[in-house]
Amino acid sequence: MQTIGYKSKGTAAAVALVNAVTGADGDDGPDALRAILRDNEFFWREFEPDDAEDLRAWGRTLRPFFETSDLAEAAAMLNGLMLRIPMHPHIANHEPHGLHMHFAPPSARLPQRFQASTLMNLSELVCRHGLSRTGVCAADGCDRVYADTSRAGRRRFCSEACANRTNVAAFRARRRTLPTADA
Ligand SMILES: [Zn+2]
Repeated sequence: MQTIGYKSKGTAAAVALVNAVTGADGDDGPDALRAILRDNEFFWREFEPDDAEDLRAWGRTLRPFFETSDLAEAAAMLNGLMLRIPMHPHIANHEPHGLHMHFAPPSARLPQRFQASTLMNLSELVCRHGLSRTGVCAADGCDRVYADTSRAGRRRFCSEACANRTNVAAFRARRRTLPTADA
């Protein structure tokens, strides 16, 4: 299991799902959910309309993990979910990943496999980095969550757009205060 690099899709999938389900501008319709599965290399063709509610419930379940800044609480949350979600780790070998771990039982349906993968990837991220790589976007008025799997790991925003908007606002605020300070 890798949380850094191209096999880290479970972490990105968790972020996309939480934002789709709980974000103010989120879209958790069947097409949007299918796109999240496809973009993150899950077996999106197995998605059926009945799976939508299971996925939405999982997005709501994961939201508090991104919101907490208490490591003990986050670990307890993930541990509780690991006891609840059926796990049966095994080695799989299929495109596009090659050899990798599956965590759900081989017979599990798509939503349960999604739960197991996202949960294990987030847990691995916490073991490596504590809570320094996950959070809620620091931009004013944005409620989207993020996970940073880059090497540098300095991310605080959900997107470049939010980072730029915040930087521009800070720059303007500085410019506004300067003449007053001189006067
Ligand atoms: Zn944002």
